[in-house]
Amino acid sequence: MIHHSILESVGNTPIIRLSRLFRDSQCEVLAKLEMLNPGGSVKDRPARYILERGLAEGSIGPNSHIIESSSGNLAIALAMTCRIYGLRFTAVIDPKISPINLKIIQCYGGNVELVTEKDSQGGYLETRIERVKYLLREQPDAVWINQYANERNWQAHYHGEGAEILKDLDRPVDYLVLGVSTSGTVHGISRRLREAWPKLKVVAVDAVGSVLFGTPPYPRDLPGIGASRVPELLQRGEIDQVIHIDDYESAAACRELVEREGIFAGGSSGSAIAAIGRLSAQVPRGARILTVLPDRGERYLDTVYDDEWLARMQDRHLVRISKKSSNTLIEETA
Ligand code: PMP
Repeated sequence: MIHHSILESVGNTPIIRLSRLFRDSQCEVLAKLEMLNPGGSVKDRPARYILERGLAEGSIGPNSHIIESSSGNLAIALAMTCRIYGLRFTAVIDPKISPINLKIIQCYGGNVELVTEKDSQGGYLETRIERVKYLLREQPDAVWINQYANERNWQAHYHGEGAEILKDLDRPVDYLVLGVSTSGTVHGISRRLREAWPKLKVVAVDAVGSVLFGTPPYPRDLPGIGASRVPELLQRGEIDQVIHIDDYESAAACRELVEREGIFAGGSSGSAIAAIGRLSAQVPRGARILTVLPDRGERYLDTVYDDEWLARMQDRHLVRISKKSSNTLIEETA
C-alpha cells in the first residue's frame, strides 16, 4: 500500500507478547508499541486527529498558527503534522526541555517560545500558560491545542489504539495498565475497550511526585508521565487502581526491557513495566495484562540510559523508600 503522506503511517502499531521479561510470571503481558509511530510516540495520534478534525470543521484554516505548551512528544508530533498541512507551529517551552527534544522540534520546522520566569509554585507551568494566552491575544490566527482539556485528545486514542486493539485481539484482556499525564490515552483506550469488555480493570501508572491522583509533589525528572496539575480531562471514577513509580524504578525497568526483549523504550514505558511487575503479584493466575509503550529510548539517552543520572535517581529512590514503607505505594481509588 502506498501512503499519501507520513501521517497515513500513524497507527496500526504491533502488539508484542513480553514472554521473556515476564517468563516467570503467572500472567500474560501484552504491549502495544506506540513508540513505532513515525513521529516517535503515541502523541502522533492526538496531533493528527485534532488538526485533521479542526481542518475538516473549519476551526483550523490554512492561515492558522498552532500553539501548544509542550516540551515533549506532543510538540514533536504537532511540528510533524503541521509540516504536512503547511501550518505554522509554536511550542511554548521552558528551560527544562531536553536539548534533544528542542532540536527535534526545530528540525521539523517548529518555532519555540521559551519562558524563563518561574511561577508562584516554583515551576514554569503557569508562566507557560500565560505565554500561550498572550500569543492568543496578540495573534488573531492563533489556535491553542490545549491537550489537558481538549476532548479530541482522548477521542484520538478511542478511535486509534482502542479500535485497533479490539481488531487485533481475539479475547478480552483483564487489566489495562497505562502511564498517565493528560489522561487522554487511558480514557480513550479504556472507554473503547470497556464497550466490548465491561469487566476490564483500568490501572493508571503515575510518577511519584506527580499530583494527578492527590499525592504530594516530589522532585521528578522524567518527562511524559505525571503532571503538576490535574487535567480537566481526568475522570478519576473511571480508574480502578493507581500505581506510583519513581524515576529510578522506571529507568531500571527500561533497562530490563531492552535487555530481555530488545525493546529500546522511553521512561514511561519503564513505569508501565515496573507497575505490571507489582500488579502481577496480586492478580489471579493466568490474568491477561495489556499496556502501551509510548515512545522510544533515543530521547532518554541523557536520563534513563545514562549511568550517572541513574545513580542520582537511585539515591533519591533510597531516601524516599527509607521514609515510606513500600506497601503504601499502591493506592486503591474509586
Ligand atoms: N508517556 C509518554 C512518553 C508521553 O509523552 C505521554 C504524553 N505526555 C504519556 C506517556 C501519557 O499520555 P497522556 O498524556 O495521554 O496521559
